[in-house]
Amino acid sequence: MTDFQGIINSIHDHLSKEEVKGVVASYIPELSKQSVNSLGIFLQHLNGDSFAAGDADIPFSIQSISKVLALSKAIAFEDNRIWQRVDVEPSGNPFNHLSLLELENGIPRNPLINSGALVVADILVTHLKNPKEDFLNYVRTIANDQTINYNKDVAASEKRTGYKNFAAANLLKSFSNLKNNVEDVLDFYFHQCSIDMTCAQLAKAFYLFANGGKCVNNVQQIPVSQAKRINAIMLTCGFYDEAGEFAFRVGLPGKSGVGGGIVAFLPNNFIISTWAPGLNPKGNSLLGMQALEQFTTQTKLSIF
Ligand code: GLU
Repeated sequence: MTDFQGIINSIHDHLSKEEVKGVVASYIPELSKQSVNSLGIFLQHLNGDSFAAGDADIPFSIQSISKVLALSKAIAFEDNRIWQRVDVEPSGNPFNHLSLLELENGIPRNPLINSGALVVADILVTHLKNPKEDFLNYVRTIANDQTINYNKDVAASEKRTGYKNFAAANLLKSFSNLKNNVEDVLDFYFHQCSIDMTCAQLAKAFYLFANGGKCVNNVQQIPVSQAKRINAIMLTCGFYDEAGEFAFRVGLPGKSGVGGGIVAFLPNNFIISTWAPGLNPKGNSLLGMQALEQFTTQTKLSIF
């Protein structure tokens, strides 16, 4: 039996001493309040066991990680029609890149870059009666945790400075790939990104992707075939223009966010989440990536 607790403890202790920790995101001013010294690791095994190290119970801004949760909800409404409005190819470009969107006539490369996530947000604004409330309830349901909430300060902070997202939404609208008002879609998007979660909550929220669409309380939330597709998108597009590097070094599907969180999983086995707010130049958590690389190397558990 693998000593998961011993392994994540030693990874945590070793990485806490690292001097190079990356740079905390500041383009959303509220995020710059995070400490570069925070480091949390949480492992949720599908057999029910869980293991925590460091700051695994401190809430942080999940940011882009929310795009996967939004996608899983949008697919429930649109099924495969969604792929007429957003593609499934890695972009090889930063998450907020714009010129490709214009070149490709307003069809975003994939649902995990900002333009693609805005199309997904548009679908949710169309189908949900009270979009912000209903989406939050969905996240609480799949994580089996009613305490999860939006962080209004983070949402407002991004609304004030989200110039590139305003540009992307307007570009999408000009190509008729946004059905609702630009302001409504952005308001929803900034809120979805502002959700605060701990590493422990994040691992539980992603349980369904590791478990063939069945969430932590055993309810089938999405069909097995859709879980397979979303997992493929996480593997190929989940880490900005560093998805290849993440697959190469870690070997798990997952998603990162500029709040410093990463969640990754081995299907039918475990979900592991990390939080370390210092980012590398590509926008992924520097220590989080190192922690996951060390974890899959030491345990020899990856999809490859
Ligand atoms: N809300 C952030 C943005 O749209 C999310 C970015 C991220 O985590 O990658 O810029």
